[in-house]
Amino acid sequence: MIANYHTHTTRCKHAIGSDREYVENAIRGGIKVLGFSDHCPWIYDREYESGTRMLPRMLAGYVDNLQKLKKEYEKDIKIYIGLEAEYIPEMMPKQDILLKDYPLDYMILGEHFTEVEYDTTYTGFETTSEAALEKYVDISIEGLESGRYVYMAHPDLLNFVGPTEIYDRHYIRLCEYMKMKNMPVEINMLGLIQGRHYPNDRFFELCKEVGNSVIIGFDAHDPSWLSDVDYMKRCEEYARVRGLEVCEVLPGLR
Ligand SMILES: [Zn+2]
Ligand SMILES: [Zn+2]
Repeated sequence: MIANYHTHTTRCKHAIGSDREYVENAIRGGIKVLGFSDHCPWIYDREYESGTRMLPRMLAGYVDNLQKLKKEYEKDIKIYIGLEAEYIPEMMPKQDILLKDYPLDYMILGEHFTEVEYDTTYTGFETTSEAALEKYVDISIEGLESGRYVYMAHPDLLNFVGPTEIYDRHYIRLCEYMKMKNMPVEINMLGLIQGRHYPNDRFFELCKEVGNSVIIGFDAHDPSWLSDVDYMKRCEEYARVRGLEVCEVLPGLR
């Protein structure tokens, strides 16, 4: 594997290792393009501190340190500075103001919540609600359609456990949208290695039907993952046995 655009840092409070260790492990793992995409902060309307993402005041340090590493390691690896964020329509104006002065290379969409997190539950919890699935797919498409994101992390995160027919009816819309936009579908390494509900086998059957290409996102919260050849092979195998074409490098990133 030569590129990975899904990498976290300790600022999100649930990752380990220094920024430098992520870079050095990626180089050791043979990765040529490394994108950092730590969990993006939000500006909330009330006093609230998220337990799973960096604080707004950490953004400057995040970008500064990655810029230094980008320069220092430029001969060995291409580093991009990005963020992973939900698309939550009513919260976007304040996020835009927060991010506007930072030289970010890209954003990925990771729809862990479809509303401000203190008002809702994690989309990864099991649900049989068609309305929840429909909202997740609608809002993900709306987010991707905004042009803010280069791709979507774990698009199969919403954990619908009701009838397959309902699962298919909504998730296929997301697959078809991404196909139309020529956007690869992420096979999430973290989910695969930890045996989570994603990557979801049914979801990737739909991708095969629709003809989506896939991209492997490490979702690394530990630097050692970036040099773990066995983990990489398991992801490639997941794609291979399903006959899914792997997109190695994202087009269009400067
Ligand atoms: Zn995370
Ligand atoms: Zn992530």
